[in-house]
Amino acid sequence: TFQHASVEEQTYLDSLTGVFNHGHFLKMLTEQCQQALKKGEMLSLVMMDIDYFKQYNDTYGHLAGDDILKSLCATIRRHIKRSDAVGRWGGEEFAISLPGAEGAQAWSVCQRIQETMGQVTIQTLDGSVIPVPSLSLGIAVFPAEAQEPMTLVHLADKRLYQAKGRGRNQIEPQQDYWQEESRK
Ligand code: GH3
Ligand code: MG
Ligand code: MG
Repeated sequence: TFQHASVEEQTYLDSLTGVFNHGHFLKMLTEQCQQALKKGEMLSLVMMDIDYFKQYNDTYGHLAGDDILKSLCATIRRHIKRSDAVGRWGGEEFAISLPGAEGAQAWSVCQRIQETMGQVTIQTLDGSVIPVPSLSLGIAVFPAEAQEPMTLVHLADKRLYQAKGRGRNQIEPQQDYWQEESRK
């Protein structure tokens, strides 16, 4: 039974980080969006990407890079609820679905993930402590800003790249945008 379960898990989990793989995340997001519509709730989607990660691998090695990916996923899971979903969208890009969360709440989750990652310590095999890369994040809210799961993904992704353009290590849109949204 144990072996059977683990084979089943392999088909929907990313082997390095243990979070959902791309296909399974998309399935979860689609289901959670349908649920949100039924309940008349919002759902926030976060897309995040590690900054200058190619350079990080080149400087500290691929194994250190893998450690970062694992730490990031462990950190994300510490800051989200059991009913939320996190997936590896590809390479060093991750997606988080937060059912029931409005933009301001998603922004706070992003901020806590950024803050906790900033405090992570990574050691190389020779024991030296190396820096942790920063994150760029984009948020979009269903169904207020996008009415389909894929348009939601595209909007959050567009904002992630705006965060890159603003100099990286940023959350887009910024906090005041969401505070104004929730006053409307
Ligand atoms: P940007 O700030 O614009 O995102 O720059 P970047 O260097 O992070 O972006 P780019 O897309 O050029 O590079 C992504 C890097 O992520 C390159 C690739 O080696 C690394 N990467 C992807 N998957 C893995 C992985 O599983 N392990 C490790 N160590 N690195 C990975
Ligand atoms: Mg990157
Ligand atoms: Mg990337």
